[in-house]
Amino acid sequence: MICEMCGKNVTFCKKVTIEGVHLEVCTECAKFGTEARKEKGKEATGPKPVITQRLESREKRSRPRDIYEGVEKDLVDDYAVRIRDARQVKGLTQKDLAARLNERVTIISKIETGDMRPDEKLIVKLQKELGVTLKEKVSTVVAAKESGPQTLTLADLIKMQK
Ligand SMILES: [Zn+2]
Repeated sequence: MICEMCGKNVTFCKKVTIEGVHLEVCTECAKFGTEARKEKGKEATGPKPVITQRLESREKRSRPRDIYEGVEKDLVDDYAVRIRDARQVKGLTQKDLAARLNERVTIISKIETGDMRPDEKLIVKLQKELGVTLKEKVSTVVAAKESGPQTLTLADLIKMQK
């Protein structure tokens, strides 16, 4: 069995309630919750706890149809190199490029060393000015599908809240 909290594969899982969510967890994680039986009768009153909402939205996100919609364009990892190379090919200094883009030289310098990621507007300007491709298709959903629905465990959600 897979512990719904830490994602560990264990032989035995306990049924517990953690912040109003029923989960089957390993004995280690069971410490964080109340055993389901004791909790009976005094649940589902008032607003839903954040974790329940997050789990519900996770379920929505992981519906099969999303697998085909999950392809997005994202900034490439080697954007710094691509920008620097393209600028040098055009025979431009960082100062020249900054002037053309109406940006500060320090910004261009930071981007070319990878210290700063250009924002959406700047990505568009850089692509246009230098004729480079800075965004490529990535699919996060496919990655999540390959490693199974346990990728995001309740423990991760709790970490995110902090
Ligand atoms: Zn566990």
